[in-house]
Amino acid sequence: MIVTRFAPSPTGLLHLGHAFAAITAAESSDDFLLRIEDLDAGRSRDEFVEAIYRDLKWLGLSWDEPVLRQSRRSEAYAAALARLTEMGVTYRCVCSRKEIAEEIARAGEAQHGPEGPLYPGTCRHLTEVPPEKPHVIRLNVAKAAALTGSLTFTEQGMIVAVDPLRFGDIVLARKDLPAAYHLAVVLDDAFQNVTLVTRGEDLLPATHPQRLLQALLGLPEPAYAHHRLVLDENGKKFSKRDHAVTLAALRDSGATPADVRAMLEM
Ligand code: GLU
Repeated sequence: MIVTRFAPSPTGLLHLGHAFAAITAAESSDDFLLRIEDLDAGRSRDEFVEAIYRDLKWLGLSWDEPVLRQSRRSEAYAAALARLTEMGVTYRCVCSRKEIAEEIARAGEAQHGPEGPLYPGTCRHLTEVPPEKPHVIRLNVAKAAALTGSLTFTEQGMIVAVDPLRFGDIVLARKDLPAAYHLAVVLDDAFQNVTLVTRGEDLLPATHPQRLLQALLGLPEPAYAHHRLVLDENGKKFSKRDHAVTLAALRDSGATPADVRAMLEM
């Protein structure tokens, strides 16, 4: 039984890239699930949730109910965060973006990760951070990796060694939100019994910290299959601002789901 999921954020209309991801997930599985990644209430909108359902149905996709909404999962995220804190692998970080940039400039060098320079660990050994002071919670990845020992994940049948330091000390919970991306994704994939994570290859590096979190929390390990990205004529990823390639605009201009598949070479 292969269980996959499509996990869009309802912060804009779905475009061709999403269609490719959703069709790939649906066609790779026995059970296809949907998850609405609406953790960021400030950016998520119900009208986009409705548009996701409408667009996926138009493409001819159907999913097993219930749809999981991250905005309803705060308690589960908080419980996992508390467990990680008990294990001694988290710390409070009060650095602003500006302070992080200044610290990196002062050090004169920084290790780089997939999204730019890594957090230099300024707050890693602070003992006194009053909880009322605005802060994020970070994972001490070196300490976490020492607990789990070396790890691997499976990408399209190939064994990949986990590099836990890839993103540095990732943020587990943001100032205003109960969880950040990596923590929410691993908890939700386990909760939904996802056995195969299909998603764009831009998220392949994210699998390293996610596998570490799974191991720390004793969650089952899904297999991974990252797929090619659908790029625009300039070789760039589509963004939420490319209205011409939204599924809604294509539909309004008379395109059929078969046309969409043809455009995606599927
Ligand atoms: N919500 C993420 C996105 O829209 C996908 C998360 C994932 O597949 O792990 O890019």
